[in-house]
Parts: sequence; structure tokens; C-alpha cells
Amino acid sequence: MTVMKSAACVVAIGISLIASTAQAQNKLNVITTTEDLAAIAREVGGDRVTVESISRGYQDPHFVEAKPSFILKLQKADVLVTIGRELEIGWLPPLIQQSRNAKVQVGASGYLDASGQARILDIPQGQITRAMGDVHPQGNPHYWLDPENGKAVAKEIAEKLSQLRPNDRAYFEQRLNDFVSRLSDAEKRWAAMMAPYKGTKVVTYHRSFPNFAERFGLDVVGYVEPRPGIPPSPQHTLDLINEMKRQNVPLVLVEPYFDLKTPNSIGRETGAAVLVMPPSVGGVKEVTDYFKLFDYDINLLIGALKKVGTASH
Ligand SMILES: [Zn+2]
Repeated sequence: MTVMKSAACVVAIGISLIASTAQAQNKLNVITTTEDLAAIAREVGGDRVTVESISRGYQDPHFVEAKPSFILKLQKADVLVTIGRELEIGWLPPLIQQSRNAKVQVGASGYLDASGQARILDIPQGQITRAMGDVHPQGNPHYWLDPENGKAVAKEIAEKLSQLRPNDRAYFEQRLNDFVSRLSDAEKRWAAMMAPYKGTKVVTYHRSFPNFAERFGLDVVGYVEPRPGIPPSPQHTLDLINEMKRQNVPLVLVEPYFDLKTPNSIGRETGAAVLVMPPSVGGVKEVTDYFKLFDYDINLLIGALKKVGTASH
């Protein structure tokens, strides 16, 4: 009897192991190009997905050094989620090709450009020339820094996951709705925090923050880069310093992957505070999800603005 019982028990354990392995195998394997997309995919996908990002949030997403491990990740992917708007054009296409994974080739059912419903700024008018620098013809790809665009990305991901797993559509839609509603609540809080600083002038290193600035009322008056993707030049830096003095600009925002030498010298000349402000989840270690990204950046800005005393009213 005892033997029978323990045999049954072993069988039961065996079955539950098989069941959980099958469940794990049944999870959609989502690979994203950035940690922001991974954070949003986790919100929407819940326990029906595994999610991994190719790049790290402290890296410049325009220039990610391709590694063989990235190809292995893509080989096993069911879904590849990209920022699009040519952000990854310098490094992703060869990785996709070398993965030889038919599911994630551009245009295949497992490929997703998450920018489709997002509000895209800086779409260039007229002809684009080399002299303009690294200008994106499809507009500014740093659109995830507006929570409303975070919702647009989440909708795209939920739709893609539902197409691939129709039986889980209700689950993904419920998680999407929950994410959108938590984000709406957080947005009200962030907007209230930023309201006293509306119209604050800032300079940013790269054009990473136009959507953030538009959403939270900052006025970006210049860039440390003379043109997108072009390192600072002495003449441009001098012009920028003069312009910042004229307009009394209190802040320089620098993405974590840029050299601080030029921003610091601009800070010394103008009296502006230089802030290293992560544009992505994973940009600093405490920013582990999409909500914490805005919490961190907004607290950083407000902390600095309180010090320089530029609350405009
Ligand atoms: Zn850029």
C-alpha cells in the first residue's frame, strides 16, 4: 500500500514536472532591441512570455556592438520587438539575417516595429543630405520617453502576442488595460510634479528627449552635439555657451553613454547644472521598469531645479 502510494506520488510529481516544462516551452520567447521595450513586453506578456533585451539601457542604442550571443538569442526568438524609425539600422539588420530565423525576419509574423501608433516628432521636411548629420528620415526614434507612447507600444505588443497566441488574447488585453490605467495614474502624478517648472529651458547632448520635453513642459533650446551623431566641436560649443548665457539656461541633460568633458566645461562657463539623465530602463541600476524610468528622471530634474531655484512662478 505504502509502496503503491509513493509510486503514485512519483508519477504525480513526474506529471507535474512534465506539465510545467511544457508550459515553459509554450511561453512565447520575446526578444527586444532595448530594455524599454522589454519592460513594456513584460507588463503585457505576464507569465505567458519570456522576455530578453539585446542592448542594455546604459548603451547608446544607435551603436550597439554586435556579439555572437545576440544571434543565438534571435535564433530562439518567437517575436522580435524593435523601436524602428531606423534607431537600430546600424546594427540589427545583419543580426536578423545571420539568425536565419524565418519568424523574425522583417515583415514576418514574429517581427514587430513598435512605432506604428506612436507620436513621432522631428520628421524632416524636404530633402535630407549628409551635411545634416545622422538625421532620421522617419523622424526621431526616441519616442518611448512619453508615457502616452509607452501605451501605444504596449498596444502594438499586445496585438502581436494575441495574433501569435489567439487563445491568450483576453489575458494580454487584460494586462494591457491594467498597464494603461496604472500609467495614466502615474502620468497625472508626474504632470503635477513637473507643473511648477513648465517652460524650463534645457540643453541636451543628443536629441533623445523631445517627446519627454513635450510631455512634461521642458523647452529644449540646443544640443551639445552640433548635429545628431556628430561629436562636439569647439565652435559649436562656444556658440552654445553664448546662447545659453543669453537665454539663462539652467540645465544640461546628458545621456549616460556620452563623455562629460564638454558638458562639464559648458556647465562651468554658464553656471548650468549638468545632469546625467538616463533615457532608458537599465540606464542606471535602480531603473528596473518603465514607471521607474520616469520616476527617476523627474525626481532628478526637480532635485536639480530646486537647487538652481528656477521654478518659474
Ligand atoms: Zn538618436
